[in-house]
Amino acid sequence: IKKIGVLTSGGDAPGMNAAIRAAVRTGFYYNLEMYGIYRGYEGMIQNDIKKLNSLNITHILERGGTFLKSARSEEFKTTEGRKKAYTNLKNHGIDALIVIGGDGSLTGAHLFFQEYGIPAMGLPGTIDNDLSGTDSTIGFDTACNTAIEAIDKIRDTATSHDRLFFVEVMGRDAGFIAINAGIGSAAAAILIPENKTPIESLVEKLKSRTKAMKTSNIVIVAEGGKSGSAQEIADKVKKYLPYYDIKVTILGHLQRGGAPTSFDRLLASKLGVAAVEGLMQGKYDVMAGLINHKVVFTPIVKAIVDDKKVDEDDLRVANILST
Ligand code: ADP
Repeated sequence: IKKIGVLTSGGDAPGMNAAIRAAVRTGFYYNLEMYGIYRGYEGMIQNDIKKLNSLNITHILERGGTFLKSARSEEFKTTEGRKKAYTNLKNHGIDALIVIGGDGSLTGAHLFFQEYGIPAMGLPGTIDNDLSGTDSTIGFDTACNTAIEAIDKIRDTATSHDRLFFVEVMGRDAGFIAINAGIGSAAAAILIPENKTPIESLVEKLKSRTKAMKTSNIVIVAEGGKSGSAQEIADKVKKYLPYYDIKVTILGHLQRGGAPTSFDRLLASKLGVAAVEGLMQGKYDVMAGLINHKVVFTPIVKAIVDDKKVDEDDLRVANILST
């Protein structure tokens, strides 16, 4: 392997820049040529590809977002689109790829490897933490910290007015941010996509907390949960607890932004190095992840299987601490 292309794709996540920087620096360390593919697979199709030098990656470790930009590409899902992308890579002489993104982006990398045999290395870049083969994805820790910081502020106003707040956090199919931010901000209840919580049991819990003289109640709701959106749940609860002053806050995209935490910087740096070294050792069609602090390469097809479960013990802890 002589020339490696790096791209970020799908939803952006804090720490993507740190991962790009680590991969590119590692490439230079081993005298490889490193190419930036801008705007994910879209840029690969449109030939938005530039050779990187060390100036390109100066002072990006600490910045949120991704300087390579990210995009979603419908065209890459077509055989013609992937053919165009392959021709562009070939013309640049790029002989391996590092794809930083979520399950969709890694699926694309796997398909591309199968079709054209371009060695592909995936890195888990998503705030949702919904990839197997790694304890944590790049951006997850930062997103949880951001959510907790925001919820702390909401608690100040909730307490001052004896209000009941429903705070919606990101995580369409996975409750990892909700559980983590919920435990970390002393939430009254946490509703996650993996479980359906009956409104009646939520109401009972809130009533018993009122009896216990809890002056503020914050319920964390993961977006896209089976029980409904934060607003829908708030509307239902209002019918049972009409005397409560109920407010809804959707944290939304602020959870994607900001400087990566030390945890995400370290994770992204280790995985960036592992990505290049893995490719050099002939590890293809795999995702580099960190399990128990050690680098592990998992076949992409296994990493993208939607089987990462919220830790039962986390749910138990959340329940004990909110009762
Ligand atoms: P994420 O990587 O965050 O899960 P998406 O699911 O939107 O985000 O995927 C990002 C991009 O990856 C898509 O826009 C598309 O270009 C590519 N991709 C996703 N799924 C496939 C697929 N089945 N085949 C080819 N490319 C795909």
